[in-house]
Amino acid sequence: MEIVKYPDKMLRLVSEKIDKVDGEIRSLAREMIRVMRKYNGLGLAAIQIGVPKRLIVVNADLIKRGSGIIVLANPKVVEGSGESFEEEGCLSIPGFYEKVKRYDEVLVEGLNYDGMIVRLRSDGYIARAFQHEIDHINGILFIDRLPFFKKLKFSFKYALGKIK
Ligand SMILES: [Zn+2]
Repeated sequence: MEIVKYPDKMLRLVSEKIDKVDGEIRSLAREMIRVMRKYNGLGLAAIQIGVPKRLIVVNADLIKRGSGIIVLANPKVVEGSGESFEEEGCLSIPGFYEKVKRYDEVLVEGLNYDGMIVRLRSDGYIARAFQHEIDHINGILFIDRLPFFKKLKFSFKYALGKIK
């Protein structure tokens, strides 16, 4: 499976809720982990490989060794605090990086790989990855969160073919 790239309209879909974390969902999660690793991504949403289901994976290990890979179905931010303004990129928009304002710390809830409800507290780049991937399952891209001038910069770069 390959990565769905901007401006594919699929990236604008609001993904469907997962009723149960069954074998099919777990195998989708494993495929997502494989793709995320292949492209050295920090996170991936199912829609990025063309599956409109509310499933995300985050490679927390890249940020904090020993944190492992987190799989979450139906993830949502239940609490957010602080502010962070750091550079972000997206496997669906290769070659473009820009600073985006996010919560610095979030409490995220969802179903884990075993189908249990979990609440995870994170900060920094892991919190950023959660917010970025949760945006994906709602059809939102990080470029949507840029101020007007930066959006313009993106459009110019895109028009010039600097973004593939
Ligand atoms: Zn992304």
